[in-house]
Parts: sequence; structure tokens; C-alpha cells
Amino acid sequence: MKLKKRKLLGGFNRFRLMLTLGLAVLLPAAALIYVNYSQLRAIERDKGIEAIFNREFQEVLAFTEKKINKKAYTMTEEARDLFPSPDTDTQEKEKKLDLILAQRPWLSHAFLYDEKGFVFRSQPGLMSDKYFREEHDHMTESYRLWFAKEGKTQAEMIHRRSKGISFSGGRVKRESGDSYMAGAMFVLPQTSSNKVALGGVTYEGCSLKGILFQGILDEMVSQKSTDQGGNRLAMMIYHMETGGEMKPLAVSAGWGEGKPEVSRKFDDVFVGLTLGIKFQGTSVAALGQNWVRRSFLILACLSLVIVGGLVLTKHIVSKEMALARLKSDFVSNVSHELRTPLALIRLYAETLELGRITTSDKKQEYYRIIRKESERLTALINNILDFSRIEAGHKEYEFRQTDIGDLVRNTLDSYRYQIEQQGFAFEESIDPDLPPVRVDREAIARALVNLVNNALKYSADEKFLGVKLYRANGAVKLEVIDHGIGITRREQSKIFEKFYRTGDPLVHNTKGSGLGLSLVRHITQAHGGEIAVESTPGKGSKFVLSLPLTGKPSVSEARA
Ligand code: ADP
Repeated sequence: MKLKKRKLLGGFNRFRLMLTLGLAVLLPAAALIYVNYSQLRAIERDKGIEAIFNREFQEVLAFTEKKINKKAYTMTEEARDLFPSPDTDTQEKEKKLDLILAQRPWLSHAFLYDEKGFVFRSQPGLMSDKYFREEHDHMTESYRLWFAKEGKTQAEMIHRRSKGISFSGGRVKRESGDSYMAGAMFVLPQTSSNKVALGGVTYEGCSLKGILFQGILDEMVSQKSTDQGGNRLAMMIYHMETGGEMKPLAVSAGWGEGKPEVSRKFDDVFVGLTLGIKFQGTSVAALGQNWVRRSFLILACLSLVIVGGLVLTKHIVSKEMALARLKSDFVSNVSHELRTPLALIRLYAETLELGRITTSDKKQEYYRIIRKESERLTALINNILDFSRIEAGHKEYEFRQTDIGDLVRNTLDSYRYQIEQQGFAFEESIDPDLPPVRVDREAIARALVNLVNNALKYSADEKFLGVKLYRANGAVKLEVIDHGIGITRREQSKIFEKFYRTGDPLVHNTKGSGLGLSLVRHITQAHGGEIAVESTPGKGSKFVLSLPLTGKPSVSEARA
């Protein structure tokens, strides 16, 4: 009935523990894992990482274009400043334009239009190219006509533009293939808006690389790569050939193969050219996938840690609960164990006091019972005291050279009568040639008494007790053998823990505190030795206590 109630209570506590763990830890942890998981899935589905990279790429491209534009404006302004005044005569103008072209080999044409006429000069070095010559002739003619017609309106329009410069650009033909040319037209500074004076230069595509593009691309790549989590960038400026093929004008180092991840068309200065960007040796998609994979992996590891933590917590709490249960068992066992001998002592003492016992044999028997019960009480109280000292870390041992054979024999002597009285066959074998051993006599005697008591307590049908003391492998071995109920393999490792008692019904019906073997183990370890058990359920047990012959005991104070 009592057992059932306790089991019920234990079950309830367990349920409460599971509920607390579930509500306070498991649910929030599972929710957190789930939320993270679905967020990652959403990022993976919507290609969130790719979008972030693309946005950053767009920013880098916009910044690069701005930088290139700024430099193009400066270069054009520098060329404009060298332009001749509209008042000079045509010859002088031609000379000055030729000088500008000579000093700036990257310019292909330079021209000037004012009310006095139109001067158009081209880079002499390029005149060997058939297409360039044709371009020169064509531009000279068409510009002359066009300026004559549109010059004034054009000048007004350009005047309103930022810095008074207007850029244009497009594909041109050269003997080497398709090329690109950018043109800049400007209002000459010396004139007021009502006097038309326009100047212009054109930039030869292949020269732009060296004077402008390459430097800025390289600078941007090395500057911005550090912002991209260590992934190096590569950039390119290209234009489209007639067949729709990409023709690079400038490429930063490490571009390798492939198309740009993100591109941006120049829309102010180098119209017709495009800026492209990508990662060196990898792609945005691959990086995105890697990131998602890594995040999933981290989430999986964290989830494992959480689950591991939960399992560990449950394990520890269950262990603590089991220990608490053992402790409460211990209290009731000990009270029971104290009450029985005390009741017997009182009963026999009262009977003797009343003087009703006349025969001396009977009296002797009563005295013996009183002595035996008080010895049992003393042993129990000693065990409890020792245990509490060990728990508090105060237990001290007094090691002295001892004839261990004598010690074992004397200890057994005070039990011999009881052993035989209980109908036990007793076999004692003590090696006579044992060397003296440094031990705490009282402690070793207590260990032996505990082992012998257990052998007596846990023997049912076949009552046999054997005690052997011999020397083997540099140690003195003390064996206590019984043919009793035995211990299952699973429980053999637990019986040395404090309060532990096996589940055998005989153990339940036998008084005990569950402290004896934990004391034996503590005592043995304090002597630098070890305790082992060999047992077969239903056949009996053998406890072997080994004390090393050489060397000093390793600890004089150790916790059980
Ligand atoms: P107890 O006060 O219960 O005897 P012990 O620490 O001495 O405490 O023993 C712990 C448990 O080990 C016992 O409750 C019993 O279940 C088991 N045990 C100890 N010695 C024997 C033995 N010789 N035979 C069978 N079981 C034993």
C-alpha cells in the first residue's frame, strides 16, 4: 500500500518535471528552432542573400561610375582650358588644336566652332587607319553643316548643362574591329552666351583604358573587396559589338571567365559603355547557397546542443530525484533499524528487572541478546557517523603497521557465535605468512563487519560464509564469500553508491541503510586499494577487498 503510494508520488513528480521541462525549455527551444528554420527557408526561397549582394554590387557600380565621370569632366576641362580663343585666326586655331592632340594622344579629334568658322583636327597618328580617315572626313563635313544650322541652339543647351560640357558616345569602326569613341562638347569659357563658340574633343576608346578606366577599376576592386566578407571583386567596362558580343575595354585583375553578375550602363559621360561586376572565382548564387547551407548546419548543431542539454538536464534531475528518494528510504530504514534493537533491549531488560527469570541459562541468553542487539546498534550508529564524517570531508584515518591476519581473526571471533547460531557453514582461511600492512585497524574491521553482515543478511536457502585472507599480485586480498541471493550484473556497479539497495524482495524485507558498501569502498580507497564484486543472482556473491602492500595509502581523507 505504502509502496504503491510512493510509486504514485514518484510518477507525479516525474510528470511535473517533464511538464516543467516541456513548457519552460522544450517549447521555447522548439519554437526558436522552428522560427529560425522557416526564416532560413524563406531566405533560401527568395534568394535573400543574392539580393543583398546584388544591392551592394549596384552601389559599388554607381560609385565607380561617379568616380569615372568626375575624372572625365576634369580631363575635359583641362583640354578645354587649352582651347584657342575664338578671336584668333583659323591658322592659329588649327595649330593650337594640333598641339592639344599632340599632348593628349588619347584624344582622336578636336574641333572648334565659332562665328568665324569651323576647324576640325584629328590625331595624325590614327590617320593611317582607313576607317578613321573616313570618320575624319565624314565628321568634318557633317559637323560643319550641323553647327551652321544648330550651332546657336546647341551652344545655349550646352551652356545650361553642368560645367558647360555635354558628353556623347558610341560605336566606331577601326581596322582592328569595332571600337568605342566618346565625345565631349563644351562652350568655350571666353564667350558670353550670345556669342556662339563651341569646342569639342573625342576620346578614343582603346586609350581610355590606360588613362582612366584601369586605374579606377583596380582602385575600386581593392578598396571594396574588403567590404565583401573577404570575397575579392572583379570589374569590367565593356561595350556591345554589332553581333551583340561583349567587348571589354578595361578589365580588373582576376575577372577570369564569365559574364558580370550585375551591370550598369553609363548614362552621363560614357554613354554606350557598361560597367560590370562579379566575384573572383565564385558566384553570388554559390555564395548564397553556401551561406544558407552553413546557417542550416549551425542551426542543426545548436539544436543538437539544446537537445543534448535537455537530455542531460533530465538525466541529472532524475538522478537527483532518485537520490532524494533513496535518502527518504534511508531515513525510514534507519529509524526502523534503530527501533527494533531498542525495543528488544528494553523488553529483555524489563523482563530481567522484574526478576521473573530464575534459571541462569535463560538469564545468560537474555544478557547475550541485549549485548548482541546493542552491538548491532553500535555498528549502525558507527556506520552513520562514519558516513556523515565522510560526507562532510572530515573523516580521518590512522594508519599503523598491523598484523592483518590477527585483525581479521579477532574481528571474526566476535561474530563466530552469531554466524554459527544462524546456521551458517563458516570457512575461514587466513594465510599465516602475511607481512604487516599499514592500515587503520578500526576502519578495516568495520569494512569486514559490513561485508560479513551483508553475507549473513542476504543469504536465504544455502547458508555459507567464507572469509579468505591471502597475498596476491603485490596486495593483500580479503575475500568474503556467500552462497546467497546474489546481485544482478546491472546492479553490481550501483551497490557501492550511497543509499543504494537492490530490488530483490529479500533486500526489501531485510533491514539496512544502504550505507555499508559505500563505506567499504571509501575505506578501501583511502588505503589505496580497491573493492570488487563477483556475483551470480541465486548463486551467491564474492566481495574482494585488495590492499596494496607497497606504497603508502593514497588518501587519508576521501569522499565516498
Ligand atoms: P544495506 O544496509 O542495504 O545492506 P549495503 O551498502 O551494505 O547496504 O549494501 C547495498 C546493497 O547491496 C544491499 O541493499 C543489497 O541489495 C546488496 N548487497 C550487498 N551485499 C550483498 C550480498 N552479499 N549479497 C547480495 N546482495 C548484497
